[in-house]
This record gives sequence, structure tokens and C-alpha cells, in this order.
Amino acid sequence: MEVTSNRLELKNILASLNANNYAQEVALVPTMGALHQGHLSLIDKALEKTEQVIATIFVNPFQFGANEDFAHYPKDITKDLEMLSKAGVKVVFTPNVGEMYPEGFSTNISIGPLARAFCGAARPEHFDGVCLVVSKLFNLIQPQYGVFGEKDFQQLFIIKKMVSELDMPIKIIGAPTIRNDDGLALSSRNSYLNTQQRKIASQLYARMCTLAEWLQAGMRFKDARAQTCQLLLEDGFSKIDYLDMVDQNSLDCIEIVNSSARLLIALYLDNIRLIDNIKVIT
Ligand code: AMP
Repeated sequence: MEVTSNRLELKNILASLNANNYAQEVALVPTMGALHQGHLSLIDKALEKTEQVIATIFVNPFQFGANEDFAHYPKDITKDLEMLSKAGVKVVFTPNVGEMYPEGFSTNISIGPLARAFCGAARPEHFDGVCLVVSKLFNLIQPQYGVFGEKDFQQLFIIKKMVSELDMPIKIIGAPTIRNDDGLALSSRNSYLNTQQRKIASQLYARMCTLAEWLQAGMRFKDARAQTCQLLLEDGFSKIDYLDMVDQNSLDCIEIVNSSARLLIALYLDNIRLIDNIKVIT
């Protein structure tokens, strides 16, 4: 496995990979590091397409708001590289901020109103920042495939939309959410949770599954949502940011369950923000 933090060196590594593997496709798995089994499941998904899997580790400042955790985002590069090497990744790109955004960098990507909906309401810079870094990585690496987790469902949707609208010749593959035994979706940010908070967090997936059952049984979304929010607050969550039912093919909010219905939630445990989503009918 080759590792580089330098764009030029990356180009050279990719060129020699291409020369040695004529016509082999490349799959890209972008990450922010502090890797877990969820990330590795994306690598596996990428390996189903091609042996040439490139991973990136970059904590992108443009997708963090001023009061968010950019400076404290968990890091363990040694462990990450060990995991990626074992998983069968060919190249890892680990740029620093200056390498990605040299002095004077000012280009932006604006993806429109969806950037302000759901998670974007509380994090207005987030999705434009994600699209900027993902576009840059696509241009640097020129993969045929990009693999992203359904854990960040709005992000996956927005990246598919950007790729389609900007005619990027890349197929975006979504990978299912990997969860702990108690249902909590794996996340690098779970390391922020203390024992008590971790116990409360484990209620989230169960509450979402119950909500889906109520909806399948014909309960009105408005009522089922209100009851679920109440229960989550009783469980110990501090604040519900949003809990919506959307059509997963449009991200339009819906009130009546259909086969594409998906529940999206973001909520706070003290100052720790958790997100999750599930299909209503699996
Ligand atoms: P991050 O390092 O948090 O930026 O995540 C990098 C990629 O891993 C994104 O495409 C995420 O959606 C995906 N991911 C994060 N957590 C999970 C999980 N529990 N299951 C599947 N994919 C995940």
C-alpha cells in the first residue's frame, strides 16, 4: 500500500498504477479517518468493483462550522493505515489542509437549497464544503466509482445529485449503515460519548425501528413523530434537531408511507450531535 500526502506524488503513483494495470478501474473511498468497521465496509464494497481501491483521509475544514469539532476531530493515523492496508487498499492519500487548499484558495461549490435542509439547517456550510472536497478528490484521482455510506444519507444523495448535474463520469455507490450490536450506527464521533451517554445513544435505533413499525401499522406520521420525540427526550437525549420522513428518491418530506419512505433524524446528547436514518419498509 502506498501512502502520500502530496498531490504531485499522488498523480505519479496513480499513473504508475494505471501503467501496470491497463484498463483497470479505480474506486475512491473518501474518509475523515478515525476509521471503524463502517469505513471498512465501504472498502469491501469498492473491492467488489475493482482491485484498485484508493482511500483518502482528510478532515476538511470547509465542512465544519465555526463552533464545531474540527480542531478536536478524532485522529489515529497509524491505526487507520494498518486497517486500510489489511483491508486491501492500494493507495492512501492523506493531505494536510495547505495541500488541498493552498494560500489564496477561494473557489466554492454551491449545491442549492438542499444544502440548507435537514442537517444543513443546523450546519449551513456543511454540504457545500463536502461537495468542494469530494469534487477536488474526484478531479485528483479520477475514479470510475465513489463509495459513500448511507449513514450520511443526505450527503450520499447530494453527492449523487452533484455528480449527475455536473456530468462527472463517476458512478456513486451507496453502502448500508454498519451498526453496533445494540443498533447504534458506528461513527468516529461515538468516541465523544461517555459511558452514560453511550447507554442513552443505544436507544436511538430501537426508537427509530418502533417509529417505522407504528407507521407501517397506519399511525399518522405527525402523531408517531411527536410520540417518538417525547420518548427520546425521556430516554435522556437533550434536543431533537429534526425527525422527518422523506421519499429517499427526492428527499421531499412525505406524510404517508410509501415503499421509498426513509426516516431521517439528528439529535443532541448534551453537545454531541448524532444522526441516523432507516428505511420505513425494508
Ligand atoms: P467520515 O469519515 O465520517 O467522513 O465517513 C466516511 C464515509 O464513511 C462516508 O461515506 C460515511 O457515510 C461512511 N460511514 C460512516 N459511518 C458509517 C457506518 N456506520 N456505516 C457505513 N458507512 C459509514
